[in-house]
Amino acid sequence: MKEETIVLHAGHRRDETTTSVAVPIYQTTSYQFNNTDHASKLFSLQELGNIYTRIMNPTCAVLEERMAKLDGGVAAMAVSSGQAASAFSIQNICHSGDNFISSTDLYGGTWNLFSNTLKEMGIECRFVDPTKPEQFENAIDKKTRCIYAETLPNPKLNVFPINEVSKIGKKHQVPLIMDNTAAPYICKPISHGANIVVYSTTKYIGGHGLSIGGLIVDGGNFDWESAGDRFPMLNSPDPSYHGAVWSQAAKPLGPIAYILRARVILLRDYGSSMSPFNAFTFIQGLETLPLRMQRHCENAEKVAEYLTSHNKIQKVIYPSLMSGVHKDRCDNYMSGGSGALLGFELKDGENAGKKFIDNLKLLYHVANIGDARSLAIHPASTTHSQLSDDEKISSGVTPGYVRLSIGIEHIDDIIADLEQALNKI
Ligand code: PLP
Repeated sequence: MKEETIVLHAGHRRDETTTSVAVPIYQTTSYQFNNTDHASKLFSLQELGNIYTRIMNPTCAVLEERMAKLDGGVAAMAVSSGQAASAFSIQNICHSGDNFISSTDLYGGTWNLFSNTLKEMGIECRFVDPTKPEQFENAIDKKTRCIYAETLPNPKLNVFPINEVSKIGKKHQVPLIMDNTAAPYICKPISHGANIVVYSTTKYIGGHGLSIGGLIVDGGNFDWESAGDRFPMLNSPDPSYHGAVWSQAAKPLGPIAYILRARVILLRDYGSSMSPFNAFTFIQGLETLPLRMQRHCENAEKVAEYLTSHNKIQKVIYPSLMSGVHKDRCDNYMSGGSGALLGFELKDGENAGKKFIDNLKLLYHVANIGDARSLAIHPASTTHSQLSDDEKISSGVTPGYVRLSIGIEHIDDIIADLEQALNKI
């Protein structure tokens, strides 16, 4: 099946009991076992099946299967938020004393998680500037468990060199984890060499600003077993699961050691599961994701063109408008558009940025991206207001910087609103 078909058909044809075509919301905590033998096989993972909704749920399973297939992975796991997906993606293979490497260009919540919360747990994050991909290699040592980056990090919107860095990882048997939240459907990180993909489904996948959720996709393309000592959490007996060695236990089930451990250990112990109701809302969003992404991208491209010629704007930041290596990466890794996040810098700085936002009538002023509606924010006075001036500049946030997340409204209405707000500054 092609992607547009996968998002509508994978994982569910009709409900076996009711013949319902829409994916039902299986609002249940638990599942009746057939007999004690069946129950015992489920608990010992000899057979995969439903035990308890903290660990798995049939509504979540449809979302998981559709996303795994869409991304070319082997399995996926839904969680309660994008933050939970990022945290679990690291905690599944790193414990105290280990390190991992991350691109410096990150969503602020992830930056905080990596530089403070995981640090307090004894997990060291080594930050590397993604404009120098070769430097990822210098940061790797024996205790390095993975490399983490975002496909399309805002506010800089420089597409990450997925293939270059995944090759470095491969050479040292270090997997690459990509946060693809800003570019679902238009970028397929696994096909460019990434091993694990994480999402905040809160954004484009849900698409309607209804629910908070996250997802981890396992590419099934990393040989955890042959990397041996680098992954003690997957290659040595796990005392919390009767001494299971995950790279071995997963073998009869497929190349799913990573996601199997995440499910039966992290979901079991931390309990950050996605609710079946939220999974249902994400399934509705996912069914139209390809169409929406096409429209998001077309609209953003037109907004970028419009802003580029505006006399109050000194710079427009949009991937397809970039030059050199950034343009090449945009062309290599994105297909069908270069996303719907866009930044621009107003010539008159901070006051102009605030005035612009306060005068918007159609675009919403919210701390979110990826809604079907167009959104705007002035980072210097909101998301980045706690940073020093130097930190703001190094993270790409100048005083007059405005971030837009372009929705799927009619382009004329979006541009008319931008124009009337720009006229008022
Ligand atoms: N990753 C990226 C790129 C994000 O933009 C966000 C949220 O803005 C997250 C992760 C965290 O997602 P959530 O808000 O669903 O926890």
